[in-house]
Amino acid sequence: MNSTTDAGKIFSCEFFPPQTEAGMEKLLIARNELEENIHPAFYSVTFGAGGSNRDRTLHTVDRLREDNVSVAPHISCIGSTREQIKQLLERYINRGVTRLVTLRGDIPEEGAGANDFKHANELVEFIRKETGDHFHLEVAAYPEYHPESKTPESDFGYFKRKIDAGADSAITQYFYNIDAYSRFIDNCHKAKLDVPVVPGIMPITNYKGIVRFSDNCGAEIPRWIRKQLEAYEDDIDSLLAFGADVVTSLCSRLLESGAPGLHFYTLNQSRATLETWRRLNS
Ligand code: FAD
Repeated sequence: MNSTTDAGKIFSCEFFPPQTEAGMEKLLIARNELEENIHPAFYSVTFGAGGSNRDRTLHTVDRLREDNVSVAPHISCIGSTREQIKQLLERYINRGVTRLVTLRGDIPEEGAGANDFKHANELVEFIRKETGDHFHLEVAAYPEYHPESKTPESDFGYFKRKIDAGADSAITQYFYNIDAYSRFIDNCHKAKLDVPVVPGIMPITNYKGIVRFSDNCGAEIPRWIRKQLEAYEDDIDSLLAFGADVVTSLCSRLLESGAPGLHFYTLNQSRATLETWRRLNS
C-alpha cells in the first residue's frame, strides 16, 4: 500500500450474478484473489430486471457472504411494486446486509410492467421511509451525463434529488476523461453536496465489447484510445498492456486529485483489476 492506495480511501469491486455453477466457481476464485490483494471495503452485485434475475442476485449475495465479506446488492426499482421492494429489503435485512446500490435500472425493451417507481430518488425515499438508517445507500452518478438526460443541468439536478432523498454516497458510471469527473465534483461543491462520489473504473480488456458497451451506456471512449484499441484488436497482449496503462494512469490521477476511492467494474474477472492495483502500488 502506498500514498495513492492508502487507508481512508474506499475501494470496492463489482460482480454480476453468474448464470451457471461453473461461473459461480470462477467468480469465487476471482473474489478470493481480489480479497487477498485489495481487500475491498465491499463487493457489489448487479441486479437485473425480472424475477429470475433478481433471484440470481440474492443467490450471488449469499454465496459471496459465506466467507464473511461485505456485500452491497444493487437494487433497481423499474418494474417493481412497493410491496416487492419491501419484501426484498426484508430479505436483505434478515441476511445482515447493510449497504445497497440503489438504482432505477434500465427500462426493459418490453416496457416496465408493474411499476410503482419512476426514478431512483423515489426508491431512495422509499427505502429511507421503510428502513430508516439501516442501510448505507449508494446511488449512480454520471460525469458524462445519463443517455436519457435532457440537459446537463437537469441531470445534475436529478442527481442532487437522490442525495437530498437520503443517499449516503455515489458511484459513477465509468469514464476515461478525468475532466468530466472533476467538473462533476466541482458541481457537487457548488451545490453543497458533501457525499463521497467514487469513480467507477472499467478495465480495458477487449475492443469490440468496450465500444458496444460504451455506446449503450453513454460513456465516451476518447478517439486516441479508441483508435489504438482498434489497431490492437487482434494483438491481445498489446491491447491488454495499453489498456492497463490507460486505466492505471486514470486511477492514479483520480486518487492524487482527491477522489475518495475507486469502484472496479470487474466483469467477474480479477486479472485486469489486479494488474491495475499492482501498477498503482509499484
Ligand atoms: P435515475 O437516477 O432515475 O436517472 C435516470 C434518468 O432519469 C436520467 O436521465 C435522469 O436525468 C432522469 N431523472 C432522474 N430522476 C428524475 C426525476 N425525478 N424526474 C425526471 N427525470 C429524472 N442497471 C441495472 O439494471 N442493474 C444494475 O445493477 C445496475 N448497476 C449500476 C451501477 C452503477 C454504479 C451505475 C452507474 C449504473 C448501474 N446500472 C444498473 C445502470 C442504471 O440502472 C441505468 O443507467 C439506468 O438507466 C438509470 O438508473 P439511475 O438509478 O441512474 O436512474
